[in-house]
Amino acid sequence: MEIDILTLFPEFFNGPLGVSMLGRAIQSGLVKVNLTQIRDFAEGKHAKVDDRPFGGGPGMVMKPEPITAAIRSCKRADSHVVYLSPQGKPLTAKRAAELAQLPHLILLCGHYEGIDERVLATDVHEEISIGDYVLISGCAPAVVLIEAVTRFIPGFLGDEASVVQESFQDGGFDCPHFTRPEVFEGMRVPEVLLSGHHQKIAQWRKEQAYAKTKSVRPDLVNHSY
Ligand code: SAM
Repeated sequence: MEIDILTLFPEFFNGPLGVSMLGRAIQSGLVKVNLTQIRDFAEGKHAKVDDRPFGGGPGMVMKPEPITAAIRSCKRADSHVVYLSPQGKPLTAKRAAELAQLPHLILLCGHYEGIDERVLATDVHEEISIGDYVLISGCAPAVVLIEAVTRFIPGFLGDEASVVQESFQDGGFDCPHFTRPEVFEGMRVPEVLLSGHHQKIAQWRKEQAYAKTKSVRPDLVNHSY
């Protein structure tokens, strides 16, 4: 998979794209990520990328010309252009898995008050939100989307089983996990996990996952079990 990130702050991504599993996937060539500075596509002496909103109001709006030029500089016939936006459909594990099937994602990060609305009509296929809150820019949402999507690329995770056992794959949460030591600050690991009885362990995990989902996210229970 190839991912192009369009932003006014490419340096934001140096940390997140350089470390851990994502860093390794990029180094190994499993995922290719290109960073594009939208300002490089602005015209004029001052390379202006934003302007005051028509109709008045606070803040600045990102101008359409540099954004569309930046998108078109990397857009291919098989590209899918996503604008990270609080007004998009919420990102889910299901949508992330679907996006992982695509050969080329272009992620447009907004800044300031957002982008000129006309860009959505001309060059964006989909708006995606990472939650019902407003962040300063689309940079952190782009990293969230990349992490959510790349986990579904075959070969990204060492153990392919982990992706199907995670929260939301079945609708509800994953089960609780324990590792050594057997006793930590007076708390013993649940006996069943030491029993070696695979069927009982599977049943216990299912019940625990269900109980937590029902208590924390009852909205998910009806869909999952
Ligand atoms: N004026 C916009 C609104 O209220 O809908 C918010 C603009 S926000 C300050 C600047 C940029 O951050 C947005 O253009 C978008 O790219 C990004 N952003 C903020 N919150 C987001 C969220 N929950 N999901 C995805 N992107 C978000």
